[in-house]
Amino acid sequence: MIFMDCIFCQIINKEKTADFIYEDEIVIAVKDINPKAPFHLLIIPKKHITSVRELTEGDRQLIGDLILTAKKIAEQNNLTGYKLLFNVGRRGGQIVDHIHLHLLSQGD
Ligand code: AMP
Ligand code: ZN
Repeated sequence: MIFMDCIFCQIINKEKTADFIYEDEIVIAVKDINPKAPFHLLIIPKKHITSVRELTEGDRQLIGDLILTAKKIAEQNNLTGYKLLFNVGRRGGQIVDHIHLHLLSQGD
């Protein structure tokens, strides 16, 4: 399901440009437009899920894919240390209502 007014769905659909680092059938990874660390990517599932709060049992594999994609990208970039972060809900700092995993690093 694609949501017309969702920025990340627009990026996934190539209706909006972004700096793609990775893409497969399940997820994309793009550079964060307003990086909070020297290395800051967003790992985003192609399936529109609003946040961690809306995850169901059926999303177990999808969430695993997000984390394993982050790990793969970190290895490809020789990152020895990094943070993986989900902001959840407005009070948790979430601005874009399409679930995404932040990959943040100070570099290698
Ligand atoms: P969050 O606060 O967890 O919802 O994070 C949303 C992130 O998306 C922020 O770090 C923004 O800088 C980033 N962001 C917003 N719009 C874009 C965009 N068009 N391309 C890449 N990153 C974006
Ligand atoms: Zn979306």
